[in-house]
Amino acid sequence: MTKSEQLFQEAARVIPGGVNSPVRAFQSIGGTPRFIKCARGACLYDEDDNCYIDFVGSWGPMILGHSHKAVLERVTEACRQGLSFGAATAIEVEMAKLVCGMVPSIEMVRMVNSGTEAVMSAVRAARGFTGREKIIKFSGCYHGHSDGLLVQAGSGVMTAGVPDSLGVPAGCVKDTLSAEYNHLDSVEGHFKRCGEEIAAVIVEPVAANMGVVPPLPGFLEGLRRLCDTYGALLIFDEVITGFRLAAGGAQEYYGVMPDLTALGKIIGGGMPVGAYGGRRDIMELVAPLGGVYQAGTLSGNPVAMAAGMAQLTLLKEHPQYYQELNRKGDWFYGQMRDLTEREDLPCQVNHVGSLGCLYFTKQKVVDYRSAKTSDTKAFAAYCNYMLGQGVYLAPSQFEAMFLSLAHTEVMLKDVLQKALTFFLQKV
Ligand SMILES: *Cc1c(COP(=O)(O)O)cnc(C)c1O
Repeated sequence: MTKSEQLFQEAARVIPGGVNSPVRAFQSIGGTPRFIKCARGACLYDEDDNCYIDFVGSWGPMILGHSHKAVLERVTEACRQGLSFGAATAIEVEMAKLVCGMVPSIEMVRMVNSGTEAVMSAVRAARGFTGREKIIKFSGCYHGHSDGLLVQAGSGVMTAGVPDSLGVPAGCVKDTLSAEYNHLDSVEGHFKRCGEEIAAVIVEPVAANMGVVPPLPGFLEGLRRLCDTYGALLIFDEVITGFRLAAGGAQEYYGVMPDLTALGKIIGGGMPVGAYGGRRDIMELVAPLGGVYQAGTLSGNPVAMAAGMAQLTLLKEHPQYYQELNRKGDWFYGQMRDLTEREDLPCQVNHVGSLGCLYFTKQKVVDYRSAKTSDTKAFAAYCNYMLGQGVYLAPSQFEAMFLSLAHTEVMLKDVLQKALTFFLQKV
């Protein structure tokens, strides 16, 4: 038995499913989760001393690669000053200034501890500001696990085969309207029926929890226009896209400005951090300034801020990083697309910059419905084969692949070669 198998058996006795987040279980591809011991650059090392080229990157945060020296140094230094004070600190001011300076639509920002919290709080602020209760979300978009947003919520929920979640009272989702990603008419339909009651539209500007589905031209602009017409707020959930597609996230990349933005993942540099922010007039409603209550014992934690600051500062000071990352993504996913076309495989490769997904379907993937046509058994075989070859992909068809600055061309060529070998044998 491998160490991972042994640990998984022990884990399963004391942790539900043996994991602290369902996406880490290998349920949808079969097999045992690898227990990771350490990570450097683009590589993960498991307890059995296997090495993997990592395409998960802790689900996004590790954009500079694992164990980046400058980030580790800053964190170590912060630790020496004390782990938490529950009081205001200078680094929080620095961090807020940095985020406001990087993300174009953010004038004020509040730190929280996760993406889930960030989105939940942004939605509360939107409801508080507009005095309206309904929100529109898109099928296949994931916005964390808060009650009101666990409707048609993509990835983790999707592969578990459970449409939503037990334990979410019907009353909590009665104000959550579902629309179809990339279909403006489905959004307009809701606005026409009850536009006066809609506080906000929340969207992943690039949907990255049903694989990767880029917005069709005009989609984000159309959402902006509909929100303006009906007096609703536009919330971008940039927990994945923030600081990934550009220093200013998807809003900079696509040039469409939301009223509120939720951030997570990269902003913490690997530590548990989320943030929400946006227009000053909205954010001034947040407690203690205004009546929208939101709080957090460990929010703005100095060690977490140190990791985030170190990573964001590097990203801000090196605009060429984004050119490099996006070029690498265009090349890698382009090669993968060429490969699937050359071999005439029933596959689709979607990508935006460093985010990408290989779907096992003949249909173009533009929304939740088309994403679901993917052959998840074929994906499982592919994923397991790659794992055996030392390539760590997210163990689900409906998760994105994340490239980091630490992935080299040599590694990526090797990965393409392995994928080709799989396809020549199997499909
Ligand atoms: C990961 C994610 C979240 C939730 O963030 P957590 O830190 O896991 O709570 C919210 N929205 C999107 C788009 C995400 O990818």
